[in-house]
Amino acid sequence: MTTFPAATILGYPRIGPNRELKKAVEAYWAGRIDEAALDAASHELQDRTIDRLVGLGLSATDSSIPADFALYDQVLDTTAALGALPQRFADLAGTDGEVGTDAYFTLARGDKERQPLEMTKWFDTNYHYLVPEIGPTTVFRPLADRLAGIVKRQSARGNTLRPVLVGPVTYLLLSKPEEGAPEGFDPLDRLDDVVAAYRGIIAQLGAAGAEWVQLDEPGLVTERGSALVPLAERAYRTIAGEREYDGAARPSLLVTTGYGTAGDIAAPGSGLAALAATGVEAVHADLIRGALPTTEQLAKLGATRLVAGIVDGRNIWRNDLSASLKTLVELEAAAAGGLSVATTTSLLHVPHDVALEQNLPEHLPEWLAFADQKVAEVLTLSRGLVGGPAAVESEVAASDAAIAHRAAFAGTRVESVRQRQAALTAQDIDRAPAEERAEAQRARLDLPDLPTTTIGSFPQTGEVRKARAEFRAGRITAEQYDQFLKDEIARVVRLQEDLGLDVLVHGEPERNDMVQYFAENFDGFAATENGWVQSYGSRCTRPSILWGDVTRPEAFTVPWISYAQSLTQKPLKGMLTGPVTILAWSFVRNDQPLGETADQVALALRDEIADLEAAGIAAIQVDEPALRELLPLRAADQPSYLKWSVDSFRLATSGVRTETQIHTHLCYSEFGEVIAGIDGLNADVTSIEAARSKMEVAVDLAEFGYRRGVGPGVYDIHSPRVPSTEEVESLIRTALANVPVAQLWINPDCGLKTRGYEETVESLRNVVAATESARASL
Ligand code: GLN
Ligand code: ZN
Repeated sequence: MTTFPAATILGYPRIGPNRELKKAVEAYWAGRIDEAALDAASHELQDRTIDRLVGLGLSATDSSIPADFALYDQVLDTTAALGALPQRFADLAGTDGEVGTDAYFTLARGDKERQPLEMTKWFDTNYHYLVPEIGPTTVFRPLADRLAGIVKRQSARGNTLRPVLVGPVTYLLLSKPEEGAPEGFDPLDRLDDVVAAYRGIIAQLGAAGAEWVQLDEPGLVTERGSALVPLAERAYRTIAGEREYDGAARPSLLVTTGYGTAGDIAAPGSGLAALAATGVEAVHADLIRGALPTTEQLAKLGATRLVAGIVDGRNIWRNDLSASLKTLVELEAAAAGGLSVATTTSLLHVPHDVALEQNLPEHLPEWLAFADQKVAEVLTLSRGLVGGPAAVESEVAASDAAIAHRAAFAGTRVESVRQRQAALTAQDIDRAPAEERAEAQRARLDLPDLPTTTIGSFPQTGEVRKARAEFRAGRITAEQYDQFLKDEIARVVRLQEDLGLDVLVHGEPERNDMVQYFAENFDGFAATENGWVQSYGSRCTRPSILWGDVTRPEAFTVPWISYAQSLTQKPLKGMLTGPVTILAWSFVRNDQPLGETADQVALALRDEIADLEAAGIAAIQVDEPALRELLPLRAADQPSYLKWSVDSFRLATSGVRTETQIHTHLCYSEFGEVIAGIDGLNADVTSIEAARSKMEVAVDLAEFGYRRGVGPGVYDIHSPRVPSTEEVESLIRTALANVPVAQLWINPDCGLKTRGYEETVESLRNVVAATESARASL
């Protein structure tokens, strides 16, 4: 058995520093390159990634570099390695059941007849994976050809990599029952079958030359974590209980538990100890999101190596090397099986390299660590652990200096912001009673029953994107760009009047992205040029960096919204992004509680809302589509999260007069678990997704006894399909059967920015017609 390397990362961004992978797979989908060219491009990126990591100091020969090169998604790669095709895709299997490249992409993207696998969030991150569909008869086979091929190719280059798979317990935990599975079937019922296939895969990877295999089990850190530990014990006893499979030595195994504490949170380390007892050679713990295991817990690891996740894979801040070294030294003393230094999770969640940024504010780069800088931090910590502090004196000094500079920097603490926060009282998050507000708003807005509106954005056409690009590149002047946007707004307002909508919007043509736009207009934020992070498949986002105290130098949405209002007699709804969503889709400072940062963003929004109100805007929407997204993985952590997140929304929106109507939009419809939180937002009108779930949410609302305005979406904007008038009317009737008419609003599920005009106009026309017909029979 080879010992586990002293320093490692759990994974690295796959997309490429110049988004090479995105370009290659998109070219393949468009038919511009063939499979051989796609392979060549992905091999080239793999080679360059390994060379880069070696350049940074990792060794390519001791299993410290993970082979984690999914073309689309690591969960989908595991599905392919297991040959776990759902029935509805069974025809895609190759002769031995294998999932080839085209089959792989069909699972990810669907085809004419079939919806793709569902996509959902990977734990509490903004990365989305493809949900496996597992039934009682799903066939699992060891089909690790692709992964084994990568290992072999690198062996031929003299490299020994560590292949990575999603572990069996997490894989099944993240799966959903295949359609037609009997009531009560749980994919975890198939654990023993899937484990048999994992043994086969591990054997194949060993035969290809892998000395270590990494199995990711973040499922163990979720609310179900403690209950999953016995299943993990059973699975890993079968996988790791013997050193040999049928007479051949198996590779050594590392089981990782990023994103939290594995197993029982009250006993940090107990999950690790249970894993260690199964015979796996190394276990990994997330020491930043997860708790630090105690000395007694560490003693229970016996001879199993502890891989200490101490460099944050979730954030972009430079590591406090002094503090980390101290922790590592203490852990090492108690870890009999030895200690390695690692990241908390894969580095998939952070951009490649700070050095690629040319236009960050001068003070910022020194505070940051993207993936490449984090690799260096892991290596420094490992050297410090082996050689003592003297071996890394200059690195530690630089880290101390950066941290001190950050703490003392003027924008980190803005006195006026701090004073304002300190002076906040309960009154600042309270408004008049909801009934009183409803009445005042009814009188002011004078709307018909079942008022119609949209969620904010109108289609972002090629022209809109082109004008923005031309402006950014300096090819058109600010005046020309302004005029373009005004024309666009005027067109959208006229269109809504023609359609007969009741509460209009300006259409958001000036916004590239609903968070970045706010980050660009607030102080305390910085935007990156190259800080791309994979969101799903070939899609990347570029989160802004919230580094300091947040202020709003001047009103920025008011000119657009007022201009739109000046063109119509109908009420125009102002449009803002809420504090929690701004946090969720940015890299947020880690030197104070999230709730405090949320309040600062809320105060900046509160200023903007006050200016909108002063400009005569009668309805203001504050979007919180990410409210659900930040919900902690463990139930015990959820109440405090809901408290600060809801309070920050209320802080942003409670400064308005009784007759000003506050709307909010929440994308998702898994209403049940957060309905109390939604009620707590105290918005006058809440719009949510409902069309795809056939208005299920209306029943939840009725059961809860929801009392304020609500607009369950009647038009699913996630596809170009145009809903018929009858279909929309039937959804309205279902809603009316559950929600009192005085509370009900009619709107699409979400913003229209990704849609084309043709289907949008036709669909909205049907929405208005269906509403009129429903009104006629009230
Ligand atoms: N107002 C935003 C829009 O219409 C809301 C988007 C969202 O919910 N993701 O685009
Ligand atoms: Zn939405």
